[in-house]
Amino acid sequence: MLSGGVGGARFIQGLLRLVERTSSATTVTVIANTGDDIWVHGLKVCPDLDTVMYTLGSGIDTDRGWGRTDETWHAKEELAAYGVEPTWFGLGDRDLATHLVRTQMLDAGFSLSKVTDALCRRWLSPIWGARVRLLPMSDDRVETHVVIDDPADGEQRAVHFQEYWIRHQASVSASAVVAIGADRSAPAPGVIEAISDTDLVVLPPSNPVVSVGTILAVPGIRDALRTTTAPVVGVSGIVGDDHVHGMARQLLGIIGVEVSAAGVAEHYGSRRPGGGNGDGILDGWLVDSVDAPSVDRIEKAGIPARAVPLMMTDHDATADMAQAAIDLVLPGR
Ligand code: GDP
Ligand code: CA
Repeated sequence: MLSGGVGGARFIQGLLRLVERTSSATTVTVIANTGDDIWVHGLKVCPDLDTVMYTLGSGIDTDRGWGRTDETWHAKEELAAYGVEPTWFGLGDRDLATHLVRTQMLDAGFSLSKVTDALCRRWLSPIWGARVRLLPMSDDRVETHVVIDDPADGEQRAVHFQEYWIRHQASVSASAVVAIGADRSAPAPGVIEAISDTDLVVLPPSNPVVSVGTILAVPGIRDALRTTTAPVVGVSGIVGDDHVHGMARQLLGIIGVEVSAAGVAEHYGSRRPGGGNGDGILDGWLVDSVDAPSVDRIEKAGIPARAVPLMMTDHDATADMAQAAIDLVLPGR
């Protein structure tokens, strides 16, 4: 699976529920977006990696969907009392320990992959053993920035994605999304192998621009998706004419992609020869039942599609979505 944070993590929970239901020996490798990563107060924070890790490790705050359960915010208050910026980025006290460990290990020369593996020994191994593996998309620094019209002075400037997302709540006008460093980055160890040597690749309903889109910007990953012998199936995070949660609508608007399940499918493109301007990645696409009328249009773009309920209301509903994705591209499995 390629994954962002909250949407990706919820989908993985459903996929794992399906694995439990079928008592199969399936293993899941999650390749997570690191374009949201940010250095704050001297610490390296990896929001999507941590959301997946805490969610699968039962440490997530389920109401917020991110950060630690039973969190307190004393350090944040103390930093604010010093007047230290950024005050808009919330680092909880429990969460801080993760970033301290990560930053120390990075400072000591370990790669982000190695650090992630070490952190997952606490969160994933006790519950999932070798069945789930979490990989950063790249060990190199890649940071998504958004070119905004700064409401403070009307000037155009590029700000870190987190500043656009959290501080401005994606409500300022913006003209571009740039994954800085992506063109010079390399996939993390194991990423290409995981895509090439698998039975199925799943794109969860993660944000097509700043989650999946950023992963696809790492050179080699799109090619691996195009050449793997495994089918690649995706699930729409757009239902009707809006995202289910988050701010995908705003981001799709910035890159000029129609905000609809069909628009996103055409943006990813068909893997068939000639599909998606020749660099498409999809063998199948699930849309929500309300978008059933767009199935024909998606299939005309060379992408087999099916309409099923796509609300991740609980793990069983999400497991049914995962099964529908498998039925679409691997019938009988
Ligand atoms: P983030 O990194 O925390 O923003 O999370 P992701 O990028 O992994 O996922 C966010 C996307 O998941 C959003 O664009 C949502 O529309 C989508 N999403 C969240 N919940 C649901 C759901 O229940 N059903 C569907 N179809 N999409 C969802
Ligand atoms: Ca994210």
